Amino acid sequence: MRRFLIAGNWKMHNGPAATRSLLTELNEEVPDIPDSLDALVCPPFVSLEAASEKVRKHFGLFLGAQNLHFEDEGAYTGEVTADMLKEVGCEYVIVGHSERREYFGETDKTVNLKVKKAVSEGIKPIFCVGESLKQRKAGEHVNLVKKQVQVALNEVEASDAEDVVVAYEPLWAIGTGETATPEQAQEMHDMIRGELAELYDEDTSDAIRILYGGSMKPHNAEDLLGQPDVDGGLIGGASLKAESFADIIRIAEELS
Ligand code: PEP
Repeated sequence: MRRFLIAGNWKMHNGPAATRSLLTELNEEVPDIPDSLDALVCPPFVSLEAASEKVRKHFGLFLGAQNLHFEDEGAYTGEVTADMLKEVGCEYVIVGHSERREYFGETDKTVNLKVKKAVSEGIKPIFCVGESLKQRKAGEHVNLVKKQVQVALNEVEASDAEDVVVAYEPLWAIGTGETATPEQAQEMHDMIRGELAELYDEDTSDAIRILYGGSMKPHNAEDLLGQPDVDGGLIGGASLKAESFADIIRIAEELS
């Protein structure tokens, strides 16, 4: 049994003050993150420092960013480096979220560059893959996601790959309230696990956590997290409320 990772993607919500309040509420809900799992919040860049102060006091909660650049410095207006993220206490970073791919021109190639940069700097990348409804209806989802995984991990060594996290996020389930069924999620996670074994070996594949993302909520978390190849969740909407995020953490604890 792998260790669950319950990750909150706050997207473009919560400035520093709101970040402090939400983490205070989360701390009241879950005074100690259970030893049996990892929990993570990913606030916007400007709130990372505020979150970092809180997270340090909130034993066991990790901090992540929602993006990074693959260069070490330079004329890249609006971007941040891996070093900057480490300086404010980030141990994880989301890479290639579908919203970044759709609105900000991220491609499988840039995802690969970012995954490589993150692992080389000791930050664990959570790279996102997933198909649109159109692609699923056309029966293209398996090959598409397989290719996204292959390209993202190009030139990533097995020893580094163990620190990588994959998030399977069907686009049609993100922020829509529609969720993949546990069977649909398991089918894709099993396929991804198999592809990781092809790229590396069984042990490495088993060590890599594969998260499900797409309207995971307290009412469906048990069924999704109960699937053998679902190792946690990347959670948008439900991570913005302390109570629902805490409920999902508690559900994961019971399943651990
Ligand atoms: C996400 O943004 O990664 C996500 C899964 O969002 P939601 O839980 O709101 O669908």
